[in-house]
Amino acid sequence: QKKIGVLTSGGDAPGMNAAIRALVRTCVYNNIKVTGIKRGYEGLLTGDILELTARSVSDTIHRGGTILLTARCPEMLTQEGQEKAAQIYKILGLDALVVIGGDGSLTGGLMLSRLGVNIIGIPGTIDMDLPCTEYTIGFDTAVNTGMDAINKIRDTSTSHERCSVVEVMGRNAGNIALWCAMTGGAEDVLLPEMNKEENNNDTIIKQIIENRAKGKTHNLILVAEGAGGSAELAAEIKKVTGIESRATVLGHLQRGGSPTAVDRMHASMMGHMAVEIFMQGLQNKVIIFKNSDYTYMDIEEALACKRGEQMKRTKILATLGPASNDVETIK
Ligand code: ATP
Repeated sequence: QKKIGVLTSGGDAPGMNAAIRALVRTCVYNNIKVTGIKRGYEGLLTGDILELTARSVSDTIHRGGTILLTARCPEMLTQEGQEKAAQIYKILGLDALVVIGGDGSLTGGLMLSRLGVNIIGIPGTIDMDLPCTEYTIGFDTAVNTGMDAINKIRDTSTSHERCSVVEVMGRNAGNIALWCAMTGGAEDVLLPEMNKEENNNDTIIKQIIENRAKGKTHNLILVAEGAGGSAELAAEIKKVTGIESRATVLGHLQRGGSPTAVDRMHASMMGHMAVEIFMQGLQNKVIIFKNSDYTYMDIEEALACKRGEQMKRTKILATLGPASNDVETIK
């Protein structure tokens, strides 16, 4: 009987459980054993495992986080750690290791694939920062959580005629911030992909002043974690304009919560597909979503993909807000 190991690694993402569930159920259906590995690579290195059955994943599709727990494992960054992990994979008698995680976790998988481990990667990260795929599990839930929070902040910001600066997650990738800005109706957004001139407090303050002169009574600015300084920006706005300004850092709020239908669907399809390609005898692949369909790519190739132009939407954002020339529409 064939045996697949599965682990979740790095930052947790809503929908990881739906992926584990689909994977386990597809394995059970096809008479493949599943070994769950706890706390990502840490559990692989310490042999912290459990057998997963159809029942182990009951009642999990709607739950955020990961039932397998997750961790960051510094030992995996070393060659000795990677060799030890590859050895334990062999001792456990696994025929494949499914890694659900972001860029770092899949890079760990790539290292193991070079040591004879058959890796199947599933993109699971709220950041949506894997250029090989058009979707990563958790993104939609994170954006919806951010948007809900922004809606609430907007209510109070409007009532008090304040300026709200909202900081969302995204250290290296501004996708969450950009989507929150577009869907929350923000005036402007600061992203890690933008340069210092584009991420300019003075420009934002000038725009706030202009918009207030046009009759706008409240302001909403989005900041990605990696662009930094939301508290400083709020303080500067207050100092220069006199407008009451508040910074809200959403933080880990965005990691939790029941996954949206979009996340459950992607996760279920990707979890299922991981087993399908295993049964086809394919080795060292990453499941990806491309051109509205699920497919796969070699792990080496997948991780070598470069990020494309994503910033076009920031320009569109500017035309949607009160910066538009039609003064009447904003009164
Ligand atoms: P997220 O971006 O959502 O937090 P991630 O998977 O990118 O997810 P990381 O913290 O970067 O999160 O990586 C998770 C784990 O993967 C690390 O703790 C480490 O064990 C392993 N890992 C990361 N990078 C490498 C690497 N270059 N080589 C081997 N293992 C790695």
